Amino acid sequence: MIDLDFLRDRPVAVMGLGTSGLATARALARSGVAVRVWDDDAAKRAAAAAEGLPVAELGHGDLKDLALMVWSPGIAHTHPRPHPVAVQTRAAGIDLVCDIELLARAERAARFVGITGTNGKSTTTSLIGHVLAAANRPIAVGGNLGIPVLSFPMLGAGGLYVLEMSSYQLELTHSLVFDVSVLLNITADHLTRHGGMDGYIAAKKRIFRGQTAPRVAIVGVDDAPCRAIRDELAAEGGPVVWPVSAEGPVAGGVYAADGALWDDTGFLSGTSPVRVAGLAALPALPGRHNHQNAAAAFAACKALGMDAADIVTAMASFPGLAHRQQQVRDLAGVRFVNDSKATNADAAEKALVCYDTIYWILGGRPKEGGLDGLDPHMSRIRHAFLIGESSDRFARWLDERRVPYSRCGTLDVAVRRSSAMAFAEARAGACVLLSPACASWDQFANFEERGQAFVDAVEQIAPAEAAP
Ligand code: ADP
Repeated sequence: MIDLDFLRDRPVAVMGLGTSGLATARALARSGVAVRVWDDDAAKRAAAAAEGLPVAELGHGDLKDLALMVWSPGIAHTHPRPHPVAVQTRAAGIDLVCDIELLARAERAARFVGITGTNGKSTTTSLIGHVLAAANRPIAVGGNLGIPVLSFPMLGAGGLYVLEMSSYQLELTHSLVFDVSVLLNITADHLTRHGGMDGYIAAKKRIFRGQTAPRVAIVGVDDAPCRAIRDELAAEGGPVVWPVSAEGPVAGGVYAADGALWDDTGFLSGTSPVRVAGLAALPALPGRHNHQNAAAAFAACKALGMDAADIVTAMASFPGLAHRQQQVRDLAGVRFVNDSKATNADAAEKALVCYDTIYWILGGRPKEGGLDGLDPHMSRIRHAFLIGESSDRFARWLDERRVPYSRCGTLDVAVRRSSAMAFAEARAGACVLLSPACASWDQFANFEERGQAFVDAVEQIAPAEAAP
């Protein structure tokens, strides 16, 4: 657990008692800091009180003595409407910070890698962590995923924290300067919380705050907002800038082209681009979007001083993340893929483009755009298997495009029918793909539970069912 005893002088408040808020409160209490905690949800307050944390309503003029307000990134503090406690805290001249700011203040001698972007953060963060762990570096990996940062071990000088950073966390982290930072991509998301696209871009740009050479800024240049940021960083003469792309050569960067990953970071010293790996050697990272993640992770590990060959060897053994095109099983020539994290059409498209003969399990609670934008990929669908609330709406959509489908109701029925059809047809390259393009909440607690249900059902298929 991170030692926060440098905060002992004055009380610290914690607003929001989710996983990271609770971990923060525990770390503060264990470090001997006078902590006060609050959550607007009575059940969360009760859970905190049950473990002995001092619950006290925040506000009403009792904020002045605080050293800091540790704010849960999920609670609005600016847009669309600031929480009243945020307004009162700022009026009292007290900083709002998140747990990552406390980690940065506690670990002044350690090094930090930060990863942000609209999509691909978890994959890239885990991939960087996997490569560094293979090199036996002293690391801790977390932030917006996995372990809350204040539950990390203290790593001290020589230690390296690899942090997935959401835009919300970036807004609440003020003094951390990353040694290596990665911005993968920016597309419209979370705009209400940031007061529009400009606010969202400004939050993402904070990943590069305070960086100067030889610190390295790695920027995906496959979208316009990120290209503008790359240009700004280069013009400011701040950090070393390495562009990354999944769409072809970029001078001085790392990119995917001609089925391979290329390293041109030696550009300024006059070296030619080096082909570092065939993309087929990275089986857990299929699709163009993952090539962007792979290029960024390669660049980050290179910036940390690793050897190209070691990076590539470690990347090849990356198992991938659960629920994101997770390769579950290969049975009688049929591949089963769990892409439960694809909760909208955009995300499902990333998986559809990776396979040619798809038995597609989809549906759930539909998003506003439904299946819009997926028309170009319907020729890849052998058959669609509909589950959940969206069945009528998606059936109409598929009818209009003459895609054959079955209404299955539930996921277990869909797995049974899709696998039976795939085995019977025995087509080359067959893939049973759960990529629902919908939220899971009509039938599951979350996308993880839905993905696990798929994995369980697939693992129960007896080899005899696959026999011709
Ligand atoms: P995040 O942590 O940013 O939500 P993940 O790594 O969990 O991202 O990936 C979530 C989904 O986003 C994946 O299943 C895939 O559909 C899509 N995705 C992953 N990487 C990228 C990328 N670089 N560009 C666009 N989409 C991506």
